[in-house]
Amino acid sequence: MKKYDVIVVGAGISGLLAALTLSKHGKTVLVLEKSQHLGGNCNSYMVDGYQVDTGAHAITHLIEGPLKRLMDNYFDYLPVFEDYGHYYIRTENYFTRVPSNLKDFVTFDVLPRKDRVLLSQTLTKAFTLSSFGIDLSSQSVYNFLPKGLSKDTYDFVDTISAFLSGRSMKETSAQRVLSGSSFVRDSITQEQFDAMIGRMDLKKSPSTESILASILPYHLHASLQSRMTKVTQPFTSLERLATNDVNYSQGYPRKGLKALLNAILYSLPETVEIKTECEVNSILVQDGKASGVEADEIYSSNLVVYTGFATELPRLVKDLPQEYTANLGGIAHSKSLTIWLGMEKELPEFKYTGSEIWFKDFAYWATPISNYDPSLAPKDKQLIGFSFVIDENEREEHETKKAYDMIFRAHPNLESHIEMQHEQIMIPEKAAVTINGKFADIRTPVRNLYVAGTDTDKRSMGITRASYSIIELLKILNEDGNLH
Ligand SMILES: Cc1cc2nc3c(=O)[nH]c(=O)nc-3n(C[C@H](O)[C@H](O)[C@H](O)COP(=O)(O)OP(=O)(O)OC[C@H]3O[C@@H](n4cnc5c(N)ncnc54)[C@H](O)[C@@H]3O)c2cc1C
Repeated sequence: MKKYDVIVVGAGISGLLAALTLSKHGKTVLVLEKSQHLGGNCNSYMVDGYQVDTGAHAITHLIEGPLKRLMDNYFDYLPVFEDYGHYYIRTENYFTRVPSNLKDFVTFDVLPRKDRVLLSQTLTKAFTLSSFGIDLSSQSVYNFLPKGLSKDTYDFVDTISAFLSGRSMKETSAQRVLSGSSFVRDSITQEQFDAMIGRMDLKKSPSTESILASILPYHLHASLQSRMTKVTQPFTSLERLATNDVNYSQGYPRKGLKALLNAILYSLPETVEIKTECEVNSILVQDGKASGVEADEIYSSNLVVYTGFATELPRLVKDLPQEYTANLGGIAHSKSLTIWLGMEKELPEFKYTGSEIWFKDFAYWATPISNYDPSLAPKDKQLIGFSFVIDENEREEHETKKAYDMIFRAHPNLESHIEMQHEQIMIPEKAAVTINGKFADIRTPVRNLYVAGTDTDKRSMGITRASYSIIELLKILNEDGNLH
């Protein structure tokens, strides 16, 4: 039986990034993926001549974030990113940019003036408390808000909360809005921010750069160092609140989301083997240590990286401690619906790059994706994706009908121009960032069994969060003597 240095379970972006980085550190890697396709939630496919993504995506923190660091150090080939554009708010009466700083907020007349003043004061207060090291993780956004705001303002804040954490403003922590949003941009790393306000012990919590610097071979490390010197000086937190620019550092991969997937696949060395339609049913443990997995057959390895839902681990690994299993049970998910509409022509109301948010009643986040790259739609046609956070307790048909009704209420002219419609229901992230929401540790009670993915790191969101988890995984493997 062939033995691998590492077995990676799951070929979503987390699993493939794990395979890429570990193989570049000299490991032989086997990736097992249960579905027919690679990429998990990060892929694109054709529907009636239109190329749809698995949910409309904005890739965040591209200039200074963890994905950039992984791309710079491990990719042989990079996707081209188009500037993201802007975030807009659409209502029956308005189409205007989402304010990303206090200055813009003053003229954001979608909300009543009195509420804007109160919200500005609240944001300033939250930022100031955070600057003094006060953690707002246990306070909900709702509880942090001043009382007596209008329904529109509550709906607006609820929508921003839902798109940031997957849950309502009553379940989203105030800290999440500060650290995870683009509305108040995490334009510098938390480490830089902490160092700036003198809160951080650099030794105790190493920055991403120093983690990579301790892991990477010298030539990669040296090039990383030279780029690091170019990192711009951080703003003070209040300056940032005043001058933030929401679309800074965000992008969309030209040729669609699959361009990012393809860049990873292209960069994989021959020491990585991938099997699709190969579900792992059991992770094997011998003397408290991972020894392989059981799928269509037994595969052996002394190191297993699992990137499926951590909540599934108790089904896959025998006799996990009760306390560990109970913690995994506390991980909350959210459910999303994306409706892709292929339009017979380009519509004037969607003549922009970026995305629009509808925040009343049933909120959506919509992106005319073919405006980034016309080749995603047939000639002179247009592709638009509308994403909703849906109620997991309702029937999917009910939520889908409600979503269509909402789209046609917001855009009464749209229906007569549709020539393709396609729906996707997915779980966008493996753990929603809620108040006291649980996350999985990368280390498990089983030696040499590790978990990676969006349920192991609460920073940022989606692909950026998956990338953070891989950098943390590398750090931990290095600490455990399992990297080199
Ligand atoms: C509508 C929508 C909008 C989004 N918007 C954004 C955005 O704007 N920006 C952003 O950065 N991110 C966004 N995301 C989130 C992002 O796509 C995901 O967080 C990311 O792709 C998750 O990657 P992952 O590898 O951790 O998990 P997944 O993609 O879920 O991959 C896990 C893989 O493991 C496989 N697997 C699981 N169990 C087993 C098993 N037992 N055996 C074998 N294989 C197994 C699964 O089949 C899957 O392929 C969005 C997602 C959705 C759905």
